[in-house]
Amino acid sequence: MKRIGLMGGTFDPIHYGHLVLAEQVRTQFQLEKIIFIPSGIPPHKDSLTLSSAKDRYIMTLLATVTNPYFEVSEIEIKDKEISYTIKTIKKLKNIFGSDTELFFITGADALYEIDTWKSPEELLKLCSFIGATRPGFDEEKLKKKIDFYKREYSANIFITSVPALAISSTDIRDRIKEGRSVKYLLPEAVEHYIYKNKLYL
Ligand code: ATP
Repeated sequence: MKRIGLMGGTFDPIHYGHLVLAEQVRTQFQLEKIIFIPSGIPPHKDSLTLSSAKDRYIMTLLATVTNPYFEVSEIEIKDKEISYTIKTIKKLKNIFGSDTELFFITGADALYEIDTWKSPEELLKLCSFIGATRPGFDEEKLKKKIDFYKREYSANIFITSVPALAISSTDIRDRIKEGRSVKYLLPEAVEHYIYKNKLYL
């Protein structure tokens, strides 16, 4: 069986928190590669204030180019409708076939709310999940919920804890707006792209 990781997100912008998480999961779970999937129109976020799909896609490409195990997929940004994970996973399952196990990587906070996603039962049957806990997250609460998913839907869910990188896209956008430095929070090429294209002002 081939093992491939999928890292979904708005990546507005992509930062070292995302990259460290993806690389850690890749090595820890022996994944062949990680495919970053910038969302098109995300169901949970305000798409009006979101940067264009093109800008987010280019920033994701720039950030991942130095890692031979990272790829970027346009699957969601090419879709003009809301990006539901279930739809994306079904399409990727068709592309990769039954000899590939897909691991969807997500923050533990998002994983905790998976029952609010579209078709959670079907989704949990289609692919494995890896939830990353950020510092301060109540892991006990999550574990109880995961036990429930495992029992009810025979879900395949893992938890991993990533190093304390308190970086978020929201904080980076705020810093840019206020003229504060974002150095060392995200790859330099992405930082230059943001300034050159006057994003987040
Ligand atoms: P925003 O601040 O705009 O909400 P974000 O920084 O959380 O964005 P997303 O693109 O929404 O970034 O995140 C994609 C995935 O990466 C999510 O599952 C999120 O939990 C995870 N993630 C984001 N930042 C970190 C970090 N510093 N450490 C670990 N995981 C992270």
